[in-house]
Amino acid sequence: MSPTIHPNRSIYDLDRHEWAELLQGEPQYRIEQIWTGLYRQFSTPAELTNLPKKLRETLTEKLPPPLLVSQEQTTDDRKTIKWLFELPDGQQVETVLMRYRTRDTVCVSSQVGCAMGCGFCATGQAGFFRQLTSGEIIEQVARASKRLKLLGGPERVSNVVFMGMGEPMANYDAVTEAITRLNSESNIGARSFTVSTVGIVPGILKLADFPLQVNLAISLHAANNELRSELVPINKTYPIEALMDAVERYLDSTSRRVSFEWAMMESVNDSDADAEQLSELASSVDAHVNLIPLNPTPGWPTRGSSMQRVREFQEVLAENGVNATIRDTRGSDISAACGQLANRTGQVGKGRRNVVVPSVSSHLPS
Ligand code: SF4
Repeated sequence: MSPTIHPNRSIYDLDRHEWAELLQGEPQYRIEQIWTGLYRQFSTPAELTNLPKKLRETLTEKLPPPLLVSQEQTTDDRKTIKWLFELPDGQQVETVLMRYRTRDTVCVSSQVGCAMGCGFCATGQAGFFRQLTSGEIIEQVARASKRLKLLGGPERVSNVVFMGMGEPMANYDAVTEAITRLNSESNIGARSFTVSTVGIVPGILKLADFPLQVNLAISLHAANNELRSELVPINKTYPIEALMDAVERYLDSTSRRVSFEWAMMESVNDSDADAEQLSELASSVDAHVNLIPLNPTPGWPTRGSSMQRVREFQEVLAENGVNATIRDTRGSDISAACGQLANRTGQVGKGRRNVVVPSVSSHLPS
């Protein structure tokens, strides 16, 4: 067999050509056995009992190790599982599986940390460490799918949302490569992917031309530039006017509905006046709004809005003809908002910094 694959890649980074090289001297059908194992059964070659034992052992030596479970938490109702995975270089990322009545959604990370610096987000507070490869993103979906099956659920997750650690549009190529491969090889429908962004305009414009019809979610959180620049610093580079132009271009190109994510923060962005401003923006592009009460996090000055305020806010939107859904804050008992678990353990950017930030997240799984 050919030389060892670079250890800092996921086995899901290998394409068929690289598998063929790695399996030189083996019958041709081995490639297909492994490929099917990876993308349909979500099993590593070591777990594939249809491979000879000797081959499994040799592959295990040569291949990068699978994601290591550094921590795992399950909610009391067992409907949400959150993992802190350790990558081969010691960095860590979070992945959340959320089981609903009609779907099973996995929320994946796209970067280790995040450079966007949203002040109220645990991941943003810790800073940016590195991009994830497409294989590392796919592997998160594979691990969640595998668990789902073990729990007696369907063969694979039904939905994939890029709302974990990182800004997906700042790692555009890896994110779209992961979507493309999961769509073609694991049969996850294009419309079952949601890419969430805080408003990276060039990324939105590129996504407008992406051949697969994925969903776009904009983490808006404020409908005027003054407040938005405070909450989401990238707004200084891409202010609301530029963002809305990009959304319109996306709509022209895809005819797909966009959603606005709005993390409800008490006395920050939850007044009737905020709802009126949001209504105007949402109506102009027929966006659906998701209202997300922030996960409670002790020690951080900004608190999530009360459920009563969230409902009143929703009523103002409804009066203005804007559809809004109140999302449940899945897993608040297990630090399910992005960056919370990693920061709690001080493991984001392991080896470089050790930041413990009591915080909340805006890229919230829905
Ligand atoms: S909210 Fe999203 S974009 Fe902002 S810092 Fe957190 S992970 Fe990054």
